Amino acid sequence: MGISFESLYSDIAGRCGKLTVGKKIVKTPALLPVINPHLQLVSPKELRKMGVEAIITNAYIFSQSKQYRERTLSEGLHKVLDYDGVIMTDSGSFQLSVYGEVSITNTETLSFQRDIKSDIWVPLDIPTSPAADRQTAEGELSITMQRLAEAKQVFGNDAPIAGPVQGGIFEDLRERAGREVTALGFTFCPIGAVVPIMEQYRYRDLVSVVMAAKRTISPAACVHLFGAGHPAMFALATAMGCDLFDSAAYALYAKEGRYMTVHGSYKIDELADLPCACNICRTHTVEELRTSPQRDRLLALHNLHVTLAEIARIRQAITDGSLWELVDERCRGHPQLLAGYRALLLHNTELEKTDRTSKRRFFYRGDESCARTEVLRYQQQLSRLRLGREVLVAFDGGAREEFDDTLLFKPPFGPYPKELRETFPIGQSEIPEWDDAMVRQGCRGIRALVESHPDTRVVVSCSKRWETILRQEVTDCEVRSEPV
Ligand SMILES: [Zn+2]
Repeated sequence: MGISFESLYSDIAGRCGKLTVGKKIVKTPALLPVINPHLQLVSPKELRKMGVEAIITNAYIFSQSKQYRERTLSEGLHKVLDYDGVIMTDSGSFQLSVYGEVSITNTETLSFQRDIKSDIWVPLDIPTSPAADRQTAEGELSITMQRLAEAKQVFGNDAPIAGPVQGGIFEDLRERAGREVTALGFTFCPIGAVVPIMEQYRYRDLVSVVMAAKRTISPAACVHLFGAGHPAMFALATAMGCDLFDSAAYALYAKEGRYMTVHGSYKIDELADLPCACNICRTHTVEELRTSPQRDRLLALHNLHVTLAEIARIRQAITDGSLWELVDERCRGHPQLLAGYRALLLHNTELEKTDRTSKRRFFYRGDESCARTEVLRYQQQLSRLRLGREVLVAFDGGAREEFDDTLLFKPPFGPYPKELRETFPIGQSEIPEWDDAMVRQGCRGIRALVESHPDTRVVVSCSKRWETILRQEVTDCEVRSEPV
C-alpha cells in the first residue's frame, strides 16, 4: 500500500514517471480533472474513456451532503462516482481558504477520506494566502506541519496521505516546508496555495515558490501543483519538476462560455472559428457551439481535450528532450508567462543538475536560449578539454599551422574541437544567422576555456563584426581580426 513514485525519463527538472497508489498506476505528468458531484458536466466514466487515470474530488462536499454522505460511506467513493481509476480527495482546505472556517478536524477529515475509500487523502492543511505577511505564513505553516505529523502518527506510515507544502510567498518557508514533509516521509507532495498567484498572472512568484519547494522535497516524491488548471502554464511547471496538475478550470471556464487554447482562452462570442482538432470542434460550427443547449458540456469537453492533449505533448517533449523548446513556445503566449520563463532561466545552475546529457535537438529560439541548461553545461565542461600550449579559436573554422590545437566556434555554446562536431549539443543544435546575443554567450565559452586553462595561450580569430563583443566578454585575449 502507500504511494510511490518512479521517474522514468527526465528533461530539465521535468519527469515522465509512474505514480503507484496501492495497486493502481498513473502515468505522469498527469492531469486530474476536478469532479464536483453536484454539477458534473462530464462524468467520471467518460473521463476514464478519455484516458484519464486519476481524478480529484472534495471530501468536504461529500461529508456535508445529505444526498451523498451516507451512501458514499456505505458504498465507497468509486461506486458512487462510477470510476475505477485513482481518486484523490481534498480535505476542505479550499473551503477553509475561501470561507475562513470548516466544521471538521484534521483527523475527522482523514478518517472520513479513509472510510469512503479514497485512494489519496489530504490532511486539513492551511493554504496561506500570498498576501499574508511573514509572521502569519510562519504561524500557519507550523499548524500545517503539526497536522501532517499528526496524520502520520494516527494513520501510520503506509496510509496514502499527501503532504502539502505551504509557506505563502516566502522562499525560505517553502524550503522549510519541503524539508519537513520529506523528513516526515511523505512521497506525494502537493505544492499548495498557488491558485491566487496564478490567477493574478504572477508567474515569476510562482517560479520562485515552486523552485524553493522543489529544492527540499525528496526527488523520489511525486509533486502536485495544486489548483493549476490552465494548459498554457503546464510546460513551465513541468520544467520545474511538477508531475501532477488538477483542473476545475475546464468546467468553470465552460460555464462562463470560455474556450481554452494552449495560448490562452477566448470568450466563445469572440471566436470566428474553432481552431482545434478535437471531435467537438470538428463536428460543430462556432455558431452551433454558441447556441447549443449543451453549450457548457461541449465547451467542457473541448477544454478537456485541449488540456489532455497538452499533457500528452509534454510527455512527448520530455521523451525527446525538447521540453525547453515547448516552454519557450508556450511562454510567449502571455507577457507574464514570459516573465516566469525568464525567472526560470535564472535558476539554470540548479536545473542543470537534473537535466539530461543528450537530447534529440537544441533549437535556438532567441536570446532566452542563451541561458538554457545545455549551454551552461557545455561551457562548464570546457574545463575538461586537454589542450596544447598554443590554441587557436577560429570563428571561420580555418586551422593554422603554428598552433598545437585549433578549435571551431559555435554560438551560443562557444569553442569546440572537431571531434565534438557530431555529438550533442554541437551536432544537434540548429541556429539561425549569428546574432549579438548568441555570439556574446559563445564568447563566454571562450572565457571559460581561457580561465580553466591558465597554461594555454588562446588566440581568437574572428571578423571585425564580432571583435567588440569578444573583447567585452574576454578581456586580455589575443585577437586576430579577419576582414568582414
Ligand atoms: Zn476542440
